[in-house]
Amino acid sequence: MTPGIHSFPDYPAELELEADVCVIGGGAGGCATAAALAETGHSVLVLEEGRAWKPKDFRPIAPWAFKHLYAGHGTRATRGNCIIPLPGGRGLGGSTLINSAICFRTPPEVLESWRAKFGCVHFTDEWMGTCFDRVWRTLGVGVNPPSVQRKNNLIFKEGVEKLGWKGGAFMDRSAPGCNGCGVCQQGCPSGGKMSADRTFLAEAVARGTVGVYPECRVDGVRTEGRRIVEVGGRTIDPEGYRTAGHFRVRAKEFVLAAGSLGSPRFLLANGLSAGPVGTQLFIHPTSGVVARFPFPIEPWTGATQGYYVDRWQQGYLLQTFNMPLDQYYVALPLPPSLSLQYLSQIRDMASAGVVVHDEDSHGSVGEGTLTYHLGDQDRLRMLEGIRGCAEVFFAAGALEVAVGIQGAGLIHSPSEITKIVRDETPAWDMALYASHPMGTCRMGADPKDSVVNPEGRVWEWDNLSIADASIFPSSLGVNPQVTVMAVGLTVGRIVGQRL
Ligand SMILES: Cc1cc2nc3c(=O)[nH]c(=O)nc-3n(C[C@H](O)[C@H](O)[C@H](O)COP(=O)(O)OP(=O)(O)OC[C@H]3O[C@@H](n4cnc5c(N)ncnc54)[C@H](O)[C@@H]3O)c2cc1C
Repeated sequence: MTPGIHSFPDYPAELELEADVCVIGGGAGGCATAAALAETGHSVLVLEEGRAWKPKDFRPIAPWAFKHLYAGHGTRATRGNCIIPLPGGRGLGGSTLINSAICFRTPPEVLESWRAKFGCVHFTDEWMGTCFDRVWRTLGVGVNPPSVQRKNNLIFKEGVEKLGWKGGAFMDRSAPGCNGCGVCQQGCPSGGKMSADRTFLAEAVARGTVGVYPECRVDGVRTEGRRIVEVGGRTIDPEGYRTAGHFRVRAKEFVLAAGSLGSPRFLLANGLSAGPVGTQLFIHPTSGVVARFPFPIEPWTGATQGYYVDRWQQGYLLQTFNMPLDQYYVALPLPPSLSLQYLSQIRDMASAGVVVHDEDSHGSVGEGTLTYHLGDQDRLRMLEGIRGCAEVFFAAGALEVAVGIQGAGLIHSPSEITKIVRDETPAWDMALYASHPMGTCRMGADPKDSVVNPEGRVWEWDNLSIADASIFPSSLGVNPQVTVMAVGLTVGRIVGQRL
């Protein structure tokens, strides 16, 4: 292994590499793991299926972004009692390449339940506090000023304040240099957002013992007794996304960080675990609400997601969001004829949505399957949140509101909200979306009920750990990137101590 960031043209047809630790997947978890391991002085090799990107490479065009930055070229969706798009990132930085930069520390109640119910003894409040502080420093986390938030965020704030609701606030974001161009989910072209590759991974590489190999998809594994000896896979031509050659990597320790879909699929494809792999998928289902105002909002500009209302105790959050115009058209919760008319007035629209803390929903990941059934209580909380967003918009002066319910049409006044957003609305009539896959390789103290032990090690193996969102034993109810990075720092530290 040679330190530094490599790329496809450097690779021979058959690439053979060796390091102390091999990290599979270069997303939030993988980059933080590499940073923690690099501090121990051991050699670390990071394998990532997607490319290495620079801010100047990104183009704010949805088809371009889906093709190059999104897993499955943007086609990933769950099936169940409704169909839910479930995008994820692909490339060094993983989903942080395309995320909205929102940062929340893990709620203390969640950490307490992980320790009490699942034996996650390493996630103490004290240790996690040091991880969160480190994430804040490394990613430059903070609140963006009102000049960057712009009208889409400020109008929601105004509505919340007019209603006199508690819990409204600007969100911390990992985008200290945000200029409000509003295209976070197509890759940040200004470099104002600090994705995991530009922070944790860059820090790791600067130590001189880390080699990063993008365009390398890991497929297989060779084992001896209880140890993984080697992983192998395909190098991928970044132009045509075709297999160009093959690679093999030998290491003393392996850390799987391929995300909540990639990690269980790797374990399943290679028969590496007898545990409940792929079960208990959580996604934070969401639904969007769009409102038209008698004045310009310009929802395509401003911090992509800047303001929220904390209803965590009630099982959901309200969060603003904006999108580039092409995505608004696809996502508008209206019949096509009305969408066209609405799109012509998009300058005057604002948007926000509900993020639901999965409690009675259930989902799973198989080698070729992805399912999610929205539970009844989660459905009711979603509807409550949709009503909340509509109320806020009317309080802020909206003329009409569109909700993600099939056939609902437009809501013209606050008194119509409960008539249109009814508790009887079935899941299959709701337009939902999710971008926070969690769980599927849960951590626990009992091998019958978990995939990794409290140290993050897959029960069946002495040198295979997992460090991504898949090890979450439950849903968080808040945006997960900070918790994933804390998991990476934790597992990286433990693996480093074992070497
Ligand atoms: C559109 C969008 C917006 C979001 N907004 C926010 C937000 O504002 N705030 C927040 O907290 N969270 C947000 N998230 C979620 C957050 O980014 C993720 O929770 C986090 O990045 C997950 O980290 P991870 O390491 O588990 O997986 P990822 O970051 O997804 O990384 C997994 C990596 O593994 C690679 N991989 C998979 N299989 C293989 C293989 N076989 N071989 C090699 N490499 C492989 C993938 O290409 C990918 O790069 C958002 C996500 C999306 C998609």
